Amino acid sequence: MLKDLVKNLEPSSTLKINEISNELQNKGQNIIRFGFGQSPFQVPKDIVNELKNNAHQNTYLSMQGLKELREVVAKYTSNKKKYNYQSENVIIGPGSKELMFLLHVIFDGEIILPTPSWVSYAPQAILGRNKIQNLKTKRENNWFPTAEDLEKIIKKNTNKNYLLFLNSPNNPSGQVCKNLNEISDVANKYNLIILSDEIYSELTFEDDYKSISDFCPEKTIISTGLSKWCGAGGWRLGYFIVPDSLKLIKDTINVLASETFSAVSAPIQYAAIQAYDKDHTDFINASRNILKSVGKYVYKNLSSNKVLINEPQGGFYLMPEFVTKKFKSSSEMCKNILKKTGVALLPGSDFGFDKERLIVRLSFTDFNGQNFMDEIKDEHNVSEELIKKFAPKIVEGVDKLKKWSKTL
Ligand code: GLU
Repeated sequence: MLKDLVKNLEPSSTLKINEISNELQNKGQNIIRFGFGQSPFQVPKDIVNELKNNAHQNTYLSMQGLKELREVVAKYTSNKKKYNYQSENVIIGPGSKELMFLLHVIFDGEIILPTPSWVSYAPQAILGRNKIQNLKTKRENNWFPTAEDLEKIIKKNTNKNYLLFLNSPNNPSGQVCKNLNEISDVANKYNLIILSDEIYSELTFEDDYKSISDFCPEKTIISTGLSKWCGAGGWRLGYFIVPDSLKLIKDTINVLASETFSAVSAPIQYAAIQAYDKDHTDFINASRNILKSVGKYVYKNLSSNKVLINEPQGGFYLMPEFVTKKFKSSSEMCKNILKKTGVALLPGSDFGFDKERLIVRLSFTDFNGQNFMDEIKDEHNVSEELIKKFAPKIVEGVDKLKKWSKTL
């Protein structure tokens, strides 16, 4: 009774590892939750209050999203980028994930996915029935594609439409893309549009975040939302910003929105106005500061000649590669690590790597961010002492992984 298309699809590994970790913890096991990628921080109080104040909002809102929210999102984005976006360019969705899915459904062409890529891009591309072109990347290129490799794929058939998924800071590698200029040259030369997944952009560890939309705005759809910077993953509010040149895409996503989720929850949209209209720089800076320090701690203490890692540059993740021949696949290795140490991780194969490559994603978010933030306030240097005090599970998980890696 099922279509062939869906028969081999499995539940998303990110959500699955979250549930497995919950189950094991409920059974009383000591689990270090390095699997799921969820903000350790709480939603800022003023935004929570706006949600409370708007609990009575009960009407369906416009399918493209509440106009006032789209206006503040357009203003917030235009202030950060070199492009003047208007409310008409913004589509509000129940998480950017759903909007990406609708994009896959409407797009006719090939989907270019750099390896590694976030776990849901490929299954969504399959559901959208477009061919996937995997684009291998290298550690020395920050795990991002080179323009040359990108061009090679497109040159095979320049008559087709191409959609490249570019995610910086990256999930799972934690790296920031540095060669945006050359990638934009390729986009400008061919029928290539880019879905720029910028969900971690506020959490870039240095101040110089650049988006591919700064280089080729007419070819770029920006995708982001509340989940990561605002600690509001469970609120499910994301958005696309689509330039006028891609209006047809925006209008068609709107049609699909109206035929599927209708409109995003009204109280959440009203509350989100506060998130983008008011200044939350202090909250964002404190979050970044803590994440940067915790990420660096994991990087410094776990790296060895048996564990290769690129230092994280933004977001929640880093990607250790274990130099061993002990396991046949990264998922077998993750199962062994979970059994032996209680550390939950995700295998590189979920992110597009060959299963034999013994690489994993580690999410360094298993700590109470609120307590941490209350303590550091304006301090810029998050000492190792503070990490030990406020992120004990991180320290414990790193110790356990380190010991485990010595047995290889
Ligand atoms: N983006 C998060 C992750 O990669 C979790 C949310 C999700 O996958 O839907 O772990």
